Amino acid sequence: MKILKFGGTSVGSAERMKAVASLILNGEPKIVVLSAMSGTTNALVQIAETLYQNKHDEAKALIQALHDKYKQVVEELYTSDEKKKQANELLKQHFEYLNAFTLDLFTIHEERAVLAQGELLSTALFQFYLEEQGEKSVLLPALNFMKVDENEEPDSAYIAQQLQKELEKHPGVELFITQGYICRNAFGEIDNLKRGGSDYSASLIGAAVDAQEIQIWTDIDGMHNNDPRIVKNTHPIAELSFDEAAELAYFGAKILHPSSVKPAKQKNIPVKLLNTMQPEAKGTTISTKTESGKIKAVAAKDGIIAIKIKSGRMLLAYGFLRSVFEVFERYKTPIDMITTSEVAVSLTIDNAKHLNEILAELKEFGQVEVDQDQTIVCVVGDFIAERSGSGLAVFQSLQNIPLRMISYGGSKNNISVLVNTSDKIEALTKLNDGIFNGNEAHA
Ligand code: ADP
Ligand code: ASP
Ligand code: MG
Repeated sequence: MKILKFGGTSVGSAERMKAVASLILNGEPKIVVLSAMSGTTNALVQIAETLYQNKHDEAKALIQALHDKYKQVVEELYTSDEKKKQANELLKQHFEYLNAFTLDLFTIHEERAVLAQGELLSTALFQFYLEEQGEKSVLLPALNFMKVDENEEPDSAYIAQQLQKELEKHPGVELFITQGYICRNAFGEIDNLKRGGSDYSASLIGAAVDAQEIQIWTDIDGMHNNDPRIVKNTHPIAELSFDEAAELAYFGAKILHPSSVKPAKQKNIPVKLLNTMQPEAKGTTISTKTESGKIKAVAAKDGIIAIKIKSGRMLLAYGFLRSVFEVFERYKTPIDMITTSEVAVSLTIDNAKHLNEILAELKEFGQVEVDQDQTIVCVVGDFIAERSGSGLAVFQSLQNIPLRMISYGGSKNNISVLVNTSDKIEALTKLNDGIFNGNEAHA
């Protein structure tokens, strides 16, 4: 069994959906995971924001505009009047459901139900298209098997068990379609795996069925060595290890959801990043294979908050760091980077939800300073500690940029620096010039 995930752009129009169908119809058993059509989740986010503000007329207008867009897709996607009618009926149900939220109280629960509509629509429309083409396939409802627990972590045992049950309902079927991104939470409510979560769905599904391969089909020919939205002359990387890919995804390479490598790594399932617009391109293969001593790529993660705790009295005392970390643990706030000195400890977080409570507790340990608008720039590759000069090129490239924190040696795959977000573009560009000459770069 292979898992093939297609992102928003890949299913972004009737024409793109037809191209996806021709890519998947090769008789191999597979589960196809679809995102919402591009622009839909953003539109749903906007609708939800408007509903939170009780701007009901505005919300209705946004819902109508989205409905009109989908009506156009239906016109272009199907040839028979019967399928067009069936698809328009489906749209009517989903858009009536959305409109009903303009009548009632709007909370986070309703918001999640709104956000789920994009994937429910794209998969149903795609399934209708396959039916019209006379192809045998089954639409698997992700809400019947995809689940997160009370800590918003996927419940892998439940997912594997329920997915197996769903698959067993359809003996002899080789082609399954399902929704990315959406899931149920610990209370059984509709929830989601956060923005970009369809990659995570694909990886979790792959792990659940012990897939032979997970393919992430998107709008670019694989993981590039730097952020192509910011830096010119980036190039695709043919091979990445699971750890390298996980670091890049976590530290901002948008092509992969931050958590999406882990389930594949745990089951040792190769992940391929492929381009729907250029299916013959080699893309990136993520596997256990490592390339010794090579710098692979640079990524950047914005929205970072740096917190420094100065405490001459206690810093080196036994148990001090534990007390600091416990504060973050109490507020379920992960720490990304950490550096220490004789008199202070600096760390970074990207989740500001409980920042005020965290700062109030930290002030009991000493003087606390906070810097907002920070960016982690992460250089990923195989940095061998035993070899002198490892990372020299990284720091030479960044010599004119103020570095707020440096992290090296945490793993052999990562050198991270913290810079002001206003210096990010320069940092990424300088690193590109300094460490990637052509396609080869060595630590
Ligand atoms: P999808 O909708 O298919 O999930 P995304 O927009 O989430 O696609 O991810 C693909 C995009 O990620 C690319 O179009 C590219 O602009 C962006 N991106 C950011 N960093 C990288 C990188 N290092 N390599 C490749 N793409 C990247
Ligand atoms: N549709 C969701 C989003 O836009 C999930 C995804 O595309 O992966 O974030
Ligand atoms: Mg994505």
